[in-house]
Amino acid sequence: MLTSEHIKEILNDYTINLRFHARGGQGGVTASNLCVEAFYGYGVCQPKFGAERMGSPTESYVRLSANADLVRSNEQVYGPHFVSVLDPSLLTEVDVSAGIPKGGWLIVNTVMNQLTIQDAVKRKDINIATIDATRIALDVLGRNITNTIILGALFRVSHLFTLEELSDAIMKRFKGEVAGKNIQAIKQAIEETCIYDMGIEPDFTVDSKIPWQQVSLGLPGYKDLDKAGVWYCDEDIIPVGSDQVNTGSWGEWEIIWDEETCTSCAQCWFICPDFTTLRKLGDDGKYHMSGIDVFHCKACQNCLNICPVQAISKRAKQGPAACASPEEGGN
Ligand code: SF4
Ligand code: SF4
Repeated sequence: MLTSEHIKEILNDYTINLRFHARGGQGGVTASNLCVEAFYGYGVCQPKFGAERMGSPTESYVRLSANADLVRSNEQVYGPHFVSVLDPSLLTEVDVSAGIPKGGWLIVNTVMNQLTIQDAVKRKDINIATIDATRIALDVLGRNITNTIILGALFRVSHLFTLEELSDAIMKRFKGEVAGKNIQAIKQAIEETCIYDMGIEPDFTVDSKIPWQQVSLGLPGYKDLDKAGVWYCDEDIIPVGSDQVNTGSWGEWEIIWDEETCTSCAQCWFICPDFTTLRKLGDDGKYHMSGIDVFHCKACQNCLNICPVQAISKRAKQGPAACASPEEGGN
């Protein structure tokens, strides 16, 4: 069984990833928000909605770490260490155990036992926790909203936050009696959670990423970044890489850089979504701004807006439309 001390050690070097499965209207997104709010370190969460209607399956994702540099991805979580399922009917409709590494946790609002759930999701290598959150919700809250109750079960197996931290997050989110009843329901869930712990620890390196490196490399241009940049080309994999795509033809503006005015502060390099602000290694051993890669610059104008000395400007690729005179056959 994971302990809070061990989880704290892991969080120093890795992200811990969570996924919530719910139905529209059940509060899965709120549960993910509360996780980040209750967590002492750094966290991000994103929802994914299918059909925008009540009852449709939804997912939300959470990444948590004590290291701010590690929480830098906003994409879908593909390797969740903890998955919480707010509605038991989702077990047979959605592949709720997808991507859970061996030893990861599946937490389900259900009255089924853990072995039945393992059969239902066809996984014998993951730990299972169950909680009859629907009954607690109806008893304590008077309505079938199980999102905070599932957090009680998550707290019990994950130790990602303390009960005090979770209660504080609840009190920030809800008011008065509603907050009090949710905290009461969480405490009941902590008591009643049934745990089937196989004694295997999940692989916490799954879906973790190394911290940013570009700064310590001296802010090189995309051609020096060796596949870490946006323009990807590996002829062994694909004969024509994205470096061949002329996104420079997309925009209506031409972006112009003025070398005289530029102080090489690199703010445009940081903000350019396509690494198309070019850089050159100078005699001083540092990279300096050296121009705009017009083949790839799609004229988003981020660099123009951020440049503190107006060293970047724009001009229309084509001038105003010329109107033919009647004599020339126009009308
Ligand atoms: S933001 Fe402006 S001053 Fe700074 S490097 Fe870019 S062009 Fe030069
Ligand atoms: S206009 Fe956009 S794509 Fe082009 S160099 Fe500036 S930030 Fe990059």
